[in-house]
Amino acid sequence: MKHILIHFGELSLKGRNRGKFEKKLGDNIKRLLRPASLKREYGRMLLEFEQVDEALLDYLALIPGVRNFSLVHRAERDIDSMRVVAVQAVREAFGDTDGQVAGHRFRVSARRGDKRFPMTSPELNLEIGGYLKNQLGLVVDLSHAEIEVHVELTRDCVYIYTDRRRGIGGLPVGSSGKGVVLLSGGIDSPVAAYTMMKRGMSVVLVHLYNSSINRDFAKIRDLARLLSRYQGYTKLYLIDLEEFQRHAIAHVPADYRMIIYKRHMIRTAGLIAADENARALVTGDSLGQVASQTLENINAIYDASPLPLLPPLIGMDKEEIIAVGRRIGSYDISIEEYCDICSFLIAKHPQTRGRRDEVARLEAQLPTEGLDCPTRTHVFIAGEEKEPGGN
Ligand code: ATP
Ligand code: MG
Repeated sequence: MKHILIHFGELSLKGRNRGKFEKKLGDNIKRLLRPASLKREYGRMLLEFEQVDEALLDYLALIPGVRNFSLVHRAERDIDSMRVVAVQAVREAFGDTDGQVAGHRFRVSARRGDKRFPMTSPELNLEIGGYLKNQLGLVVDLSHAEIEVHVELTRDCVYIYTDRRRGIGGLPVGSSGKGVVLLSGGIDSPVAAYTMMKRGMSVVLVHLYNSSINRDFAKIRDLARLLSRYQGYTKLYLIDLEEFQRHAIAHVPADYRMIIYKRHMIRTAGLIAADENARALVTGDSLGQVASQTLENINAIYDASPLPLLPPLIGMDKEEIIAVGRRIGSYDISIEEYCDICSFLIAKHPQTRGRRDEVARLEAQLPTEGLDCPTRTHVFIAGEEKEPGGN
């Protein structure tokens, strides 16, 4: 069996809610990674797996709520056991079990989670450091160590490890309520969905399409499946806005179509949010990125939202967004070809300073009857079969 020790993200700051957050993270990890066992302790969590490979470690690094984690060895709470296990950990760290580690620089960093232990942290550092030096011929170097041997003493046992990996941090999915993400086939919106998950939001996805143009949603489903890796059960609504688009083309001048259409997308997502008991809408908008994302247009568009509309990428550059997309695995799916409806609405000279009075005037001319309720909705479920908790 292999053991992974996890340290929580911001969870430690949550005071009275702490237990609830820890439980949520534990439940998420159980559902997503299926460890052989999971034990929660104060400020940390111990997972047990039959096998651990790089793919599993990379995956764990992206689970919201995990601040850092390590593959650990376990020792008893006595100095002899700690010495033996520390030697083993160091040998493994250098990928050498024959003891050819002499001359390498190291340091020991002990931490006591249980102050009742008779030795202090500096005493443990000296004791274990001295043993490793004599036994393996290592050289103590506090400022330029090649490896750091962490000795973490808890109430039940001692964890010894040489490798600490950074997790994504944030809050466990499901601890900050639910939101509806407008998911396009582009690069930005899947990253926006993940960014909100990282703040604890569980997301429902809505993709709007035009049935006269889009018939194949494999790419959109793949994005939903990818995002479900980070939250489990994921609903994707596919909603046909062909009829509205037809009206918009007939009644709205080209330069305002994008604005009017985006407002309709947001209202539609708002209807789904009401059904889903979601408390916010989320887009992948980034300020100034395209014509619809000037501050004037964002004003003219967001104003149609019945709920707070959160654009988590608003201040990010495309390169930063792409870097996250690559890390979570959405980028390679996003760059596959897909004909999004919006591209059909793009005017040669789109309005970059949408005015609210003009928007109101144009919307009043549209036949809206029957367009308020989303037509031909297909729901695709990715991840688990059942919604956790059944709500
Ligand atoms: P790109 O990565 O190419 O910028 P994008 O998805 O950001 O793609 P934009 O036209 O900039 O494309 O759209 C801004 C936001 O509007 C998207 O991030 C998404 O939240 C929403 N959106 C756009 N098209 C759709 C769609 N067909 N269905 C649902 N939401 C959409
Ligand atoms: Mg964009």
